Amino acid sequence: MTRYVYDFVEGSKDLKDRLGGKGANLAEMTRMGLPVPPGFTITTEACREYLRTGSPPTGLFAEVEEHLRLVQARMDKTLGDPRDPLLLSVRSGGKFSMPGMMETILDIGLGDASVLGLAAQSGDPRFAWDSYRRLIQMFGKTVFGVPGEDFESELSAARIGAGVTSDAELGVTELQDLVQAYKKVFHAGTGRDFPQAPHEQLYLAIASVFHSWNAERAVLYRRQERIPHHLGTAVNVMAMVFGNLGADSGTGVAFTRDPATGRRGVYGDYLTNAQGEDVVAGIRNTIGLHNLAEIDPPSYRQLLSIMERLEQRYRDLCDIEFTIERGKLWMLQTRVGKRTPAAAFVIAAQLVDEGTITLDEALQRVTGEQLAQLMFPSFDTAAAPPPLTTGVPASPGAAVGAIVFDSAAAAAASTPVILVRRETNPDDLPGMIAAQGILTSRGGKTSHAAVVARGMGKTCVCGAEELTVENDTVTVGGTVLRSGDVISLDGTTGRVYPGAVPVRPSPVVRYFEGELSPAGDPLLSAVQRLMAHADHTRRLGVHANADTGTDAARARRFGAAGIGLCRTEHMFLGERRQLVERLILADDDTERDAALAALLPLQRADFAELFAAMDGLPVTVRLIDPPLHEFLPALEDLTARVARAEALGVDPGHDGVLLTAVRRMHEDNPMLGLRGVRLGLMIPGLFAMQVRAIAEAAAAWVAAGGDPRPEIMVPLVGTVQELETVRAESESILAGIEGAPPIRIGTMIEVPRAALTAGEIAHAAEFFSFGTNDLTQMTWGFSRDDVEGSFFGRYMSLGIFATSPFETIDADGVGELIRIAVERGRAARPDLTVGVCGEHGGDPASVRFFHDAGLDYVSCSPFRIPVARLEAGRAATAGSSSSSSFPSSSSDSR
Ligand code: PEP
Ligand code: MG
Repeated sequence: MTRYVYDFVEGSKDLKDRLGGKGANLAEMTRMGLPVPPGFTITTEACREYLRTGSPPTGLFAEVEEHLRLVQARMDKTLGDPRDPLLLSVRSGGKFSMPGMMETILDIGLGDASVLGLAAQSGDPRFAWDSYRRLIQMFGKTVFGVPGEDFESELSAARIGAGVTSDAELGVTELQDLVQAYKKVFHAGTGRDFPQAPHEQLYLAIASVFHSWNAERAVLYRRQERIPHHLGTAVNVMAMVFGNLGADSGTGVAFTRDPATGRRGVYGDYLTNAQGEDVVAGIRNTIGLHNLAEIDPPSYRQLLSIMERLEQRYRDLCDIEFTIERGKLWMLQTRVGKRTPAAAFVIAAQLVDEGTITLDEALQRVTGEQLAQLMFPSFDTAAAPPPLTTGVPASPGAAVGAIVFDSAAAAAASTPVILVRRETNPDDLPGMIAAQGILTSRGGKTSHAAVVARGMGKTCVCGAEELTVENDTVTVGGTVLRSGDVISLDGTTGRVYPGAVPVRPSPVVRYFEGELSPAGDPLLSAVQRLMAHADHTRRLGVHANADTGTDAARARRFGAAGIGLCRTEHMFLGERRQLVERLILADDDTERDAALAALLPLQRADFAELFAAMDGLPVTVRLIDPPLHEFLPALEDLTARVARAEALGVDPGHDGVLLTAVRRMHEDNPMLGLRGVRLGLMIPGLFAMQVRAIAEAAAAWVAAGGDPRPEIMVPLVGTVQELETVRAESESILAGIEGAPPIRIGTMIEVPRAALTAGEIAHAAEFFSFGTNDLTQMTWGFSRDDVEGSFFGRYMSLGIFATSPFETIDADGVGELIRIAVERGRAARPDLTVGVCGEHGGDPASVRFFHDAGLDYVSCSPFRIPVARLEAGRAATAGSSSSSSFPSSSSDSR
């Protein structure tokens, strides 16, 4: 029979699939003998069953009862006992952390009778009645969906009635009255009385946590973070301990290292006389954890030693939630903590230095996305005005945008915005996703805004206490800012500037450029070390997509081992467009030859530049690819110009000739028309001119003492005969050019037919390069130029796509064609070189796929080269099993 409930003493950190992250870690801490309140975890499988059938799986509640008996025995208390009640917390916790997205219900077990018992036992009636009113409020809102405002307005009426400004000042009598008022609100909202039976409370709470897996904000968060929707949440039921029993009690959050910079030390927040959620909610400003050393030295020392043990056990930065109840420390949660990209690199390198992890493991502790974020620019503070204020630097980056005060406005904005709030809560998620940055006036580094922003890699400054945030203004000092006013947020220093501050390149980019030395800088040294190890271990080569000497030189500085794609059509723009026009309009061979002869020296110079920048490394030059009419004026413009001339009775001249040509060449589907190799076969001499220019430039560079390694790549091949024809012509030209180095000829694989007939095509190709932009377009049958702006948004929100297949390779469809082509191509020609040069070549998740598919190299834009190098190293050190964890871009992850 399936087992749905595990006592904390039975689980371990390795059971996250079943017990969720929180449950598995509570179990681990219990095993370690740390002071964890007794409790048990209901498995994710129970949740999946519940969501599938709409009712609790058979036997679940019997198991719950059995485990509850153990908790009661350990606490020597009984749930809801009128004399001395055991109270429970019921918390969600999936395999992956989803901060604040699902439900938590505290103080389960309180009722009209047991509240008196709690008051007597604790000696603190105020605490007992406050807990009871919190339970009715939380239960009404969470389990029965009673609007939170209905309770809030009673609470504010109670404050006004008592003439006080904060909830903490309400006395016992007022809280007793408030409980009565809350019960009425509950009845009005649900049509029933607040359930007094403690076990009924418990079961309802468990079911509502199951339900909360599919709450709108949870679904949105999972989509954003690419967490599969089918996993379900576990439910943790734990004996309550109280941080709000007076000055010798409190609650806090701690990190074993600074999650912003990675520095070692004591980091965290503490609140005296407060209940667990108060810190994370950011509704009261906390004090630094180091203050606990004076407030409660024994608990502080015990906490530090526990933190040390947790780091050793998890071999990583841990974050911790704890409560002190009347001088006794309790651990409520731990997990491997979220961190900024900079901290991820610094901590990984530190852990290697400390002998805790190997360099291979260190590579698994950082990601290409994190490196990409470190390559973002930051503010040029020399040019910045004095800051308006400084808050807590919660998530780094430089964000500039117009102020908006509510999430809906942020989500609807079409220009960059900064979301400004007193504090955020999980309902603000859509606005947080849409905004460039988030600014709050309350809460610390562990407030909701901070935790969520860090997880998303979004700039965030929180707890900027000098700000007074109203509905539609924010005031600081004498300055009043309104919606639409532009501000700049520095998430690394916490500074908030008026207006748009200019941004400067990231130090990591400057390091890659060779402008900054890593010596003495913890971040740059860590990046250098991990990149060196990635380069040492990776099997995939990393080449660049570059068409100019400048781009090629930068790509080389960033670590490219050659050019994987030079798009030669980019060389025909500007003034040269006219030469192409001449070529297209040529009526006879003389005209055409003259146009080609004019283009030849220009092309030769282009290639010479690339060979110089990439001396000694391969330069793969793709023969011209796009439809030729792209080099001519648009049909509509020409038609209008000619019509205007004719209306005035003037000869349209050259425009008339052009119009005839444009009409002749017009295609309804140009991307599926006369382009790529088809064009080369239709315009005599065009490919030949390019081949000659490549070979002559190479011969000249050899003569100058250089080491050019050109390769010729034919685009859009669908059948081997196309390639054979181009190859035959090219070889005869190459044979006639003295002093040229050997030049390999290969093809792009970007038409599904080419992938399927790769076995034949390989006979005529020395290399393949997957053009995954076209291959994605043609495999799915949708236009790469049109669809991302049309139906992709809807597809994403429906969960049909977790991510755009133009961004991350569709492993199941396009990926299958790639696997087929690699296999058939290599079977026909074992020494075939295989690479990829579509946009996916620089996408972290796709790099992993290309490694697993056995490619030789990826080629991407210069800026993404470090990311591809790192990911290639990560793929090599992760082992070959990684394909199963590759996120699918299609519906599998729903
Ligand atoms: C491709 O199709 O992936 C490719 C690299 O070629 P282009 O983007 O120039 O069509
Ligand atoms: Mg293409």
